[in-house]
Order: sequence, then C-alpha cells, then structure tokens
Amino acid sequence: MSDAFFGLPPEVIFCKRCVISNQRPSSTVEFKHAKGEKKLTIGFDNDGVCDACHYQETKADSINWEDREAALVELCDRYRRSDGNYDVIIPGSGGKDSAFTSHIMKYKYGMNPLTVTWAPHKYTAIGWKNFENWIHEGGLDNMLLTPNGRLHRYLTQQAFVNLLHPFQPFIVGQRIIGPSLAAKFGVELVMYGENQAEYGNNVDDNYIPTMDTKFFSISDPLDIVLGGKKIREIIDETDFTLTDFAPYIPPSAEYLKSKDVEVHYLGYYLKWDPQECYYYATEHTGFQSNTERTEGTYSKYSSIDDRIDMFHYYTTLVKFGIGRATYDAAQEIRNNKITREEGSQLVKKFDEEFPKKYFKEFLEYISLTEEQFHETVDKFRSPHLWEKDGDEWNLKSTVWHDQKRLD
Ligand SMILES: [Zn+2]
Repeated sequence: MSDAFFGLPPEVIFCKRCVISNQRPSSTVEFKHAKGEKKLTIGFDNDGVCDACHYQETKADSINWEDREAALVELCDRYRRSDGNYDVIIPGSGGKDSAFTSHIMKYKYGMNPLTVTWAPHKYTAIGWKNFENWIHEGGLDNMLLTPNGRLHRYLTQQAFVNLLHPFQPFIVGQRIIGPSLAAKFGVELVMYGENQAEYGNNVDDNYIPTMDTKFFSISDPLDIVLGGKKIREIIDETDFTLTDFAPYIPPSAEYLKSKDVEVHYLGYYLKWDPQECYYYATEHTGFQSNTERTEGTYSKYSSIDDRIDMFHYYTTLVKFGIGRATYDAAQEIRNNKITREEGSQLVKKFDEEFPKKYFKEFLEYISLTEEQFHETVDKFRSPHLWEKDGDEWNLKSTVWHDQKRLD
C-alpha cells in the first residue's frame, strides 16, 4: 500500500449512503496539512455509513424541532434589547445561508441584527449584486470588513504554497469576525448559520448550540499561524508589521467571556436545509442564483460570490480526492434531493473539472506562474489517491466505481 499524506486513512472508503469518502478532513481551519501529522477525518460507523449521514438521520428522527425552536425563542428573549442597540451579530456574505439567518432573526424572531461580512478575495458580479440586495431589499444593516489586500494576497499565496489551502486565511477571518466585532460593539450574542460539523466536522459539535472557543485561546498573537507560518516569521521575512494583522487576531476566550459573548449556530435550533435557505433568500432578500453552474460542480447557488472560490475546491480534490461536486452531491443526497446513483454520476461528470474561468486572475492574485501552480499542486498529490498515466493524473478510487460495485 502506498503512503498516505497528511495522516489520511491509507484505504479509501466511500460512505454507503452518500458520496463522501473517509478522506474528508474534519475541520478546514485546524487541519495542519503537514505530511504524516495526525489529524481527524470524518468518522465512519461499522455499517459503512459516515457521521454526517448518521447525523441527518438523528435530525430527521430523534430531534424535537419544536423544543429546539422554543429554545431559540427563549435565547432571543434573553438577548433582545429595546434600547436601540444591536443585540445580535450575524456574520455572512449575503449568500443564501446568511441571508436566511439574518432575515429570519430580524423579521420572525424580532431581533436587531448587525450583519458583518469578511470580504471575499474578489467579488463576482453576482456575488456583489446579492450582497447589495441582501441589504437593500432584505432591510438589514451591514458592516463590510475588507482586510489589507496586500497582506491578504500574501497570506493566500503562502497558504497555497505551504498548505495547498489558499482559503485558510479567509476561513480564519470569517470565523473570528463575528465574536471579534461583537466584543467591540458590546453585543453579547453572535449567530452563525449552520454548524459546518453537519458536513462531517466533529460530529459531537452538532449536539451543542455554541461554538468551541478553544480556537480563541491564543496567548501571544505572534504565535498565530496563518498560511502555514507564524506571524512572528512573516514579520521577520517581510515588511508587514503586527498592526497589519489586526483583523486576523481573534479576541481571547477569556476576553469573550468577560464581555459575555456567546457564539451560537442557528442550525442547532432550526432544521437546516440548504435548498430551503435558497428559496427563502430568493423570496425575502432578492437573492439570485448564477446563470451558469460553478466550475467543478453542477450547482448554481452555493458559494458564488468569490472569483477564486473554485480553487478552494480544486485543492480539496487534489489533497483528499474530494471536489466540489462531491460536497454538493453528498449534501443533496442527505437531504433526499437526489439518489446516491445520481450523485455519483454528477461526481463523475464534474468533480475533476479544472477551474479555467478565473485561472489567470487567480495566478495574478497569488503571484505565481502557471508552472509554479502545477508544481505546487503535484507536490500535494498523495500516492494513495493519485496515479500518473502519461501526463495525466487519475484518481485511484472513485465513487462511481464504488457505485458500480454496489449496483
Ligand atoms: Zn454519508
């Protein structure tokens, strides 16, 4: 058996129910991407079914959603303010999920939210339009935080070269913007939409309503790792200074506690269905899907606001054999929108598609040549996932072969 990089399970197993494999990392933020380093991947039960599918079952059968909604109403009653101040911070981009979360919190549950946005690397036209509609048509307040573009480009480049994870700095920013601005504005409640755990992160997180603030336990900001390097090292090697990193430095867990800030997920309280969020956002905040499908998948309405988003999924394909169509199909199978058979055909058709449309722009953004791009990518192809046939790289295990075996 060939060596598996990043401590991935050496044998690829596909979930019997959806199309996800056991190579799926359990967290996109904490994953270190270093060869041989221990990390967590999605759990599989003895029945060959993944944790995310099992959670979906729990969601359908054994959670009392009326009780959960009652708990949400209680939570809102506890935090609602009548002094004109904001009472909840809602992070998001104006995509379908944050549009749903913010609109329903304001107009159904009577809260006064401030939505906060960590800017995409490069807005798409449709993304910017949806962002505007969210505020103009949806009737919500927003603060757009755009980090120092020169630093963010540098971090994205480092994250690509060192980790093949160009979205890592963005994900970090998105994760800390809520608690960070809540503490600054004296708002005690932060509401994120869905807990990504639902898609195979630590599954236990699905059973608690709040975000683990371990992430925020950093004693020295110089030790924060961004793009695979400590801030300390970056400052040594470049002309950036610590002040440039302000938006990437999370408030400490202790500070959040002293300010009574709590971070919750709406997906804990309301039965989450991405397609329903889409319908809701269309109706209430003027959300529009794209006119064409996103490269690497068949869908038109999720994560469409960033021109380099497809490179995030291209790198997950390279590192884990899991591209965007796999993520989309797995989610839709779990929500009973498509069958596993249909899902595996969609994966076959779209998962390995190279994102051509914004390739040049992406290369410019991260200041790499095409050769440097491919050289980097190929360094991260684990031999247990990929084999080379002439000039072409092929996945050794695919879900459509697995599906044939089951048929
Ligand atoms: Zn599954």
